[in-house]
Amino acid sequence: MPRPVQYNTNIKMVEMPEGYSGEGFHATSFDKVVGLARANSLWPLPFATSCCGIEFMATMGANYDLSRFGSERMGFTPRQCDMLLVAGTIAKKMAPILRQVYLQMAEPRWVIAIGACASSGGIFDSYSVLQGIDQVIPVDVYVPGCPPRPEGILDGILKLQDLVHNESLRRRNSPVYKELMNSYGIE
Ligand code: SF4
Repeated sequence: MPRPVQYNTNIKMVEMPEGYSGEGFHATSFDKVVGLARANSLWPLPFATSCCGIEFMATMGANYDLSRFGSERMGFTPRQCDMLLVAGTIAKKMAPILRQVYLQMAEPRWVIAIGACASSGGIFDSYSVLQGIDQVIPVDVYVPGCPPRPEGILDGILKLQDLVHNESLRRRNSPVYKELMNSYGIE
C-alpha cells in the first residue's frame, strides 16, 4: 500500500536583514549579508570520539535533520569546513591532533564543545583525559549534558548561528581576537 505523501506547509523563511526596501530592491549593509550567508551555511566537521558522537549522528538523521539549518554538508577535511563539532572524551594524547585539525581550518572558523567531556572532561577527572577542549583551542558554544540530546545539539548550533549572524567582519582582525589567539599560541 503506498505511503501517503505529506508536505510540510510550515516552512519558515529566514528573515531579511534590516535595510531599506523599495520596489524590486532591498539595500542593506555588507556585514549583514555576509552574516546571513555564513550563519545559514555552516559546514560541520564532526570530531567525534565516543558516546556524544552517537547523539550527533542522531542529529544528522531524518528525524532531527540538521539539513534544515543549512548544515547538511558534513566534511571530513578541515579546509572545507567552518564549524568544528567536538563530541566525546578527548584524551590528552588526542589533544595535539584536535588542535592540528583546528589549525587546518580556514578563518572564519567556529567551535562547539558537545557534551560534558568535550566541555570539561566530564566524569573522567583522570590523568589521561583533557579537562575541556578550551585548554587547547578556543570554544564558541558549549552544549551541556552527558550526553546532550539531539535537541541540545541543535540548540547549540542555533546559538552559534546567532553568534555568526551578528559577528562583525572586522572581529577577526581586532586586537581582542588576536590576543585570544595568542593566548593559545596561535598566530
Ligand atoms: S559527555 Fe557523557 S555521553 Fe558524552 S562522551 Fe562524555 S561520557 Fe560519553
